[in-house]
Amino acid sequence: MRIRYLPETLINQIAAGEVVERPAAAIKELVENAIDANATAIDVDIHNGGKSKIIISDNGCGMSDTEIVAALDRHATSKLPDDDLLHIAHLGFRGEALASIAAVSRVRIQTHDAQSGESWEVSCDAGIKSPVSPCGHPNGTRIAVSDLFYATPARLKFQKTERSEYGAVKDTITRLAMAYQNISFTLTHNGDKKLNLPAVLDKQSRLSAILGKDFGKNSMYIEAERDGVKLSGFAGLPTFHRGTSQYQYLFVNGRAVKDKLLHGCVRAAYADVLHRDRHPVLCLFLDLPPDEVDVNVHPAKAEVRFRDPQRIRGMIITALKNAIHENGFQASSTVGSSTLGAFRPANTPFSSGPSLPLSRGNAPAVPSSYAYSGHSGGYGNLAEASHLKYEPAAAIQNSFAAEIAPSAKAEIHEPIAQTAQHFPLGAARAQLHENYIIAQTENGMVIVDQHAAHERLVYERFKEQMANNGIEKQGLLSPEIVDMDETNVQQLLEFAPQLSKLGLDIEAFGQDAVAVYSVPSLLSGRLSIKDLVINLIDEIAEHDQADTLEEKINHMLSTMACHGSVRSGRRMNTDEMNALLRQMEATPLSGQCNHGRPTYVELSLKDIERLFGRR
Ligand code: ADP
Ligand code: MG
Repeated sequence: MRIRYLPETLINQIAAGEVVERPAAAIKELVENAIDANATAIDVDIHNGGKSKIIISDNGCGMSDTEIVAALDRHATSKLPDDDLLHIAHLGFRGEALASIAAVSRVRIQTHDAQSGESWEVSCDAGIKSPVSPCGHPNGTRIAVSDLFYATPARLKFQKTERSEYGAVKDTITRLAMAYQNISFTLTHNGDKKLNLPAVLDKQSRLSAILGKDFGKNSMYIEAERDGVKLSGFAGLPTFHRGTSQYQYLFVNGRAVKDKLLHGCVRAAYADVLHRDRHPVLCLFLDLPPDEVDVNVHPAKAEVRFRDPQRIRGMIITALKNAIHENGFQASSTVGSSTLGAFRPANTPFSSGPSLPLSRGNAPAVPSSYAYSGHSGGYGNLAEASHLKYEPAAAIQNSFAAEIAPSAKAEIHEPIAQTAQHFPLGAARAQLHENYIIAQTENGMVIVDQHAAHERLVYERFKEQMANNGIEKQGLLSPEIVDMDETNVQQLLEFAPQLSKLGLDIEAFGQDAVAVYSVPSLLSGRLSIKDLVINLIDEIAEHDQADTLEEKINHMLSTMACHGSVRSGRRMNTDEMNALLRQMEATPLSGQCNHGRPTYVELSLKDIERLFGRR
């Protein structure tokens, strides 16, 4: 075979594979062009998820008759006047988006050149341009793209469903709108207006318009600056988390990026306060001199490289950790705070130990001697707890004991039948911090994480029921309405038959809510249905493509189990604790929770003696 030069159209079609691999990517390029043209209003109108038609209109500077032709050629750009790749001041610079899009679809561009006052139009079909002609377009630029990928049948075959493409388009517009609050954006899908974001002055208004009021209430303002590098934005409180990192919006110099380093920073900053399967919601903007960051890493420009990654890393982690600590969350993990304590200089406010305000969120601060870091539904302090009517006398007595010795809040139980000690997990003796069961075994002791253990038990029971007649369900007296994004409603409804087998009967309730009619009996009365449904959506989105149905169902079961389990923070009496231990012994795989963490730790007498230097 002889080497030959490929024709221009084929080169563009090949390039299109990277630059515009799906409608959302084409739309990102076109909207970025409008932003670069100084538009203040950008309207996106799509049909069939963008697969059949995309129309982007802006009120930017427009193009002249020669520019409109050049714009469709590869490597033609107005954005690199000095050939300087170190100082990229626009979102575009590669000059290949329009050429790539035009090579694989039918494009029509109409534009009004603000400089000359003339209007022009040109069409291009699978890379073949028609002559430029004058037109009556009044303002800015309108680009209509029809039948994306019709000229590359191989790519056409790999298009996803309309719902999935629409979801990606909405996500793209949302991200761009977060970065450019001074530009108004609209998105219309199949004739319905889906997004309407008027221009606003401050970032916060735009973010709450997109992410909702809940985020506003549950986020912390982040601001830090060092050596010309600026970090700003809003980060969710550790309790405001989701099952996927999809809701982490990260921007570098106004460019939405999906960057491993940045996601890694977020994970590291929240590591002590959040389980590793959970992800905070946040929106962070990093602004730094253009020569400190290389944006020319990937054709879609979604990845970046920093000249000094360690510095950026340090700065982001510190800023996030500081914000988390300032909000009192160092208390949410005693292990975490003592580890952190080891790193803190002696005279920071954090080193003062007992005088820390240990309250969560907006709750009033209480003296640490009464507070503990239970779940949000837990008692704020022990004085309050002792008012609860069902408290057995022993517990009240123990609250009293706890007031005297606050750090050892143990619930001491009556000696129990000696026989229980012969079981592998022994006889329950005490519950510490409303989550850890201490049991005495024949030759040592066992500490059980009651939440992790119960989660596992519920999960195993679910799997058992599933294998028999499906999950037992219990109808709700009145259906629970859960509000959500319209795309999420669609996603969830597609799984309605499977969810019904899982005990959850749902139906659409208007365009952006679902009604839940039943829940699994095992969970009834125990869970927040809203939280469960939102988590199931994340679960479905995360495992949408890859997993088999069985895997998907197991994921959902596991999510449900996690929600319905005894949360840390619930007091149990001796009988309940012993029942849990016996159930664990009888249940396969009960040694670890569904996330792979141990459900119990065993210490032999030998180990204990070693701890005290007796051996
Ligand atoms: P790049 O954005 O990397 O320069 P593109 O292929 O996306 O490459 O666009 C090529 C050129 O077309 C741009 O440099 C710009 O001059 C012009 N252009 C594209 N879209 C618009 C628009 N909406 N308004 C004004 N000019 C545009
Ligand atoms: Mg561009």
